[in-house]
Amino acid sequence: MTIPMVDAARQMAGLMEEIEPEIREVLASGQFILGPRGKAFEAEAAEHLGVHRAVGVASGTDALHLALRAAGIGPGDEVITTPFSFAATAEAILYTGATPVFADIDPYTLNLDPEQAEAAVTDRTKALLPVHLFGQPVAMEAFDDIAERHGLTILEDCAQSFGAARSGRMTGAWGRAGAFSFFPSKNLGGAGDGGLITTDDDQFADHLLRLRNHGSSRPYYHDELGFNSRLDELQAVVLRAKLSRIAAYNEGRRRVAMAYRRNLAEAAVHLPNESVEGGHVYHQFVIQTANRDEVRDALAAADIASAVYYAVPLHRQPVFAPYAEGARCPVADRVAQRVLALPIFPELSKEEVERIAAVVEEHARS
Ligand SMILES: *Cc1c(COP(=O)(O)O)cnc(C)c1O
Repeated sequence: MTIPMVDAARQMAGLMEEIEPEIREVLASGQFILGPRGKAFEAEAAEHLGVHRAVGVASGTDALHLALRAAGIGPGDEVITTPFSFAATAEAILYTGATPVFADIDPYTLNLDPEQAEAAVTDRTKALLPVHLFGQPVAMEAFDDIAERHGLTILEDCAQSFGAARSGRMTGAWGRAGAFSFFPSKNLGGAGDGGLITTDDDQFADHLLRLRNHGSSRPYYHDELGFNSRLDELQAVVLRAKLSRIAAYNEGRRRVAMAYRRNLAEAAVHLPNESVEGGHVYHQFVIQTANRDEVRDALAAADIASAVYYAVPLHRQPVFAPYAEGARCPVADRVAQRVLALPIFPELSKEEVERIAAVVEEHARS
């Protein structure tokens, strides 16, 4: 039996009975966009995340883009971010006309290193955009201090960290805004694309309501350049059902991570950093090993999926390289050669973890 990286169908099977009547209701109502379910989901998500407001949008990429715009980021501005992330983080900066500035990552957490980020501040820097990578919360206290010292805005990329917390405070509740993705493989995954922006600032949230809807605050009056980026009612049905279970889903991921730690304790691999504070939601379980590609091949031969997040850091991608000429990110360069993500999702069984770990242990070399 193949073991996949994620199994969205396994999770959906447990929800089918609950959501089916709701899906029918939406279809029968004829109201598919900007309706009551989307609104209810926004309120429930804000409550869950401990923020004042949440605004649904069409994707995590849009959440980043619109949050940057609402924060007034544009041409001539620099935004400091990590080179070790999904491309969308830096794409969103470029969409606004601003310039992404890549600072190196911390070798233990693989998150943006606050010291490297501060060293990259110039008089054009307007914002910091750390990513809670693989579900591990960023050291936000350090970024708060940097923002304070230099008068910068913090925007959080929470695409991989729904439900992750640090010092009891959820990711997305630290910065001026948090950007979430509901891509199906994320910790809170929809049945399609979707995203969310969190903020405590009412004016900022109201601005986002306009930006996502053609710059319009009443129908057919357009005050500024806006976009078409809404979270639809069918997605809201799925997301509300999953939101009520997200704590259990994340607990399931932590259980899988613990099982990996037990089973890989003697293996020649570097296990992911577990913050002393807890709060990691293991969007991915990423090990490091010297012979990564051999381990991958061995897993594939045993019918087990694995993935490399990320083989090419952003400062080396052709699309971003022109903005990264001076960027030196040796830690990101090194870990890109060594990282390997193993399957992780709440429904992954103990036996499956044992099967995966046995292959890794047999083939990994330090
Ligand atoms: C998935 C992801 C995004 C983009 O989200 P989409 O919903 O796919 O647009 C942004 N940043 C990170 C770190 C992600 O993992």
